Amino acid sequence: MQIKSIRLENFRNIKSQSAEFCDGINILYGNNAQGKTNLVEAVYYLACGKSFRGARDKELIMFSEKEGSISSCISSQKGENDLQVKISTQNPKEIYINRVKISKMREFMGTFRAVLFTPEHLSLIKGSPFERRSFTDSAICQLKPKFISLLFEYSKILEQRNALLRAYRQNDSQNGDQMIEYWNYMLSKDAALIINQRREYIKRLDSKAKEFYNSFCNGKETLKISYSGIPDEIEGPGKIEKYITQKLEENLQSDIKNGSTSTGPHRDDLTVEIGGKLSKLYSSQGQQRSCILSMKLAEGEISHEESGEYPVFLFDDILSELDLERQDYILHQIHSKQVFITGCIDYLFDSVKGAKKIYVEKGVYEDRDISPRGQ
Ligand code: ATP
Ligand code: MG
Repeated sequence: MQIKSIRLENFRNIKSQSAEFCDGINILYGNNAQGKTNLVEAVYYLACGKSFRGARDKELIMFSEKEGSISSCISSQKGENDLQVKISTQNPKEIYINRVKISKMREFMGTFRAVLFTPEHLSLIKGSPFERRSFTDSAICQLKPKFISLLFEYSKILEQRNALLRAYRQNDSQNGDQMIEYWNYMLSKDAALIINQRREYIKRLDSKAKEFYNSFCNGKETLKISYSGIPDEIEGPGKIEKYITQKLEENLQSDIKNGSTSTGPHRDDLTVEIGGKLSKLYSSQGQQRSCILSMKLAEGEISHEESGEYPVFLFDDILSELDLERQDYILHQIHSKQVFITGCIDYLFDSVKGAKKIYVEKGVYEDRDISPRGQ
């Protein structure tokens, strides 16, 4: 899968620009604050339907403008497709595939797939469980767009259950026993589906990431990624549902006291171990970086397995964070995949052959080769 071209109008600091990309490595280079990440953000928007920087749609529109858009031509085994997103300060976004307006986000998801690696991901291992859950969920959503609706439905049910818990706490009674039974039932059902899909995904990620990690450290250490939150022996949606229901019943009194639900996929986490030791506590910076790069490459492999083609890889500003061997891997050893790499101009890009180089300055994109150093 490749993105052939993009046209941005009033997107962040980009007034009106078009760019064409090659099927291999595309390097976006230039000084700080010129619009490199903004372009990556626009490309990733086409895969996820939202900004990866947590920005709301209206914040993506150029200051003091009312409307903006991302238009692109995507090529995949299914042929070429035009994707367009129109964003406005006043109205909800509009999405078009081949100029036909679509109403559901899940119809859009999966048309274009991308794996993103930014400096924020470098804290994935040390960061909060929320970040690790988001990593897993956004990877699954691209493969199974229905998963978005499931997560949305679950969060609504969770809100309702928590509201009921708070009402019990306030009234100091549980008049509506049937109500809590109902919400326990609803929550367990969706929780089981989410946990089951996440676990399946993590199992696949673990086996692929292990291979990359092995090759990065010449087989000296083993990487292990597992889903934590539910015992391993509880397998399949039916058993998970029973387990969750039982936990919800057991913890009801403490949940009422806290006004929140203590069991479920909203509390689960990923456990990452290197050489049998918990990575969060014991791994060096370098080990963590190799581990995250392995997870990102593994994400791409799973996407390839599912659809028969590789997603587009977006490496925003991470090259200088990696050691020479990992840099070499990204610049020279990722073959037959479309890759975007951003960075400030420096020696890192000098050796890359056959790449398309785009110079970025003040929101303007210009095809330009990097001048040899010293000129
Ligand atoms: P760095 O090398 O520091 O990562 P970059 O080239 O990746 O820089 P971007 O993150 O793409 O920089 O941002 C470029 C500029 O976009 C910033 O100066 C920022 O102020 C500007 N910007 C962000 N949002 C908007 C917006 N809505 N309207 C206009 N400009 C914006
Ligand atoms: Mg940037």
